[in-house]
Amino acid sequence: MNDTLDERLLIILSSPSGAGKSTLARLLAKDDPEIQVSISATTRSPRDNENEGREYFFITKEKFERQIDNGDFLEHAEVFGNLYGTPLKFIEDCQKKKLDVVFDIDWQGSLQIKNSKYKNNVVSIFILPPSIKELNKRLHSRGSDSRSMIKDRMKKCNDEISHWKDYQYVLINTQVDEVMEQIKSIVSAERLKRSRRKGLVDFVNKLNDELKDMNS
Ligand code: 5GP
Repeated sequence: MNDTLDERLLIILSSPSGAGKSTLARLLAKDDPEIQVSISATTRSPRDNENEGREYFFITKEKFERQIDNGDFLEHAEVFGNLYGTPLKFIEDCQKKKLDVVFDIDWQGSLQIKNSKYKNNVVSIFILPPSIKELNKRLHSRGSDSRSMIKDRMKKCNDEISHWKDYQYVLINTQVDEVMEQIKSIVSAERLKRSRRKGLVDFVNKLNDELKDMNS
């Protein structure tokens, strides 16, 4: 357990649909016991391979809107005609348990988290596809969306990509293994930032005391 961190990271992955961010988020959490994947709520219908509480909490529009009114979401947005939101309680619990959280969310959600009380904890990463042809191919081979949905996602791709400059890091997902190593390096470096390690003050004071003792 990385006890030197006072507040844990909120690692945001955004990309156009099909660029691989949900796979990357899950791989990152699988390889690191200190990272949890944020499970969003959505009004979208589940795909064949999706389970309640694993990929999403699938809820009605009415329930989603009630939860907005109750302030239950850290962020929420409409994407491709459906509502998606991050439950605030989950993030608060992860902070208490000293766990980092990785998010697979769009640019609107990223912006809201960057303006939230957690803004200093944010590490934002934008994932670009190696080419538009490859992105189109990945959306088709996923086999989970209809042709018209894929067409819609490709149309909105331009809009999502236009936000790449708002992220701290931008990676190109040519090889999953390679981009995974890059994300792990970013997380390691972000955890070591002086501003996140308040316990260092005590440690350096202790070194100074030892020096004083040695020289007295
Ligand atoms: P999908 O329907 O393919 O699972 O997700 C569609 C888009 O919604 C993706 O770009 C995904 O990152 C985004 N998304 C998923 N969950 C959330 C969320 O909680 N908040 C926001 N703002 N976007 C989300």
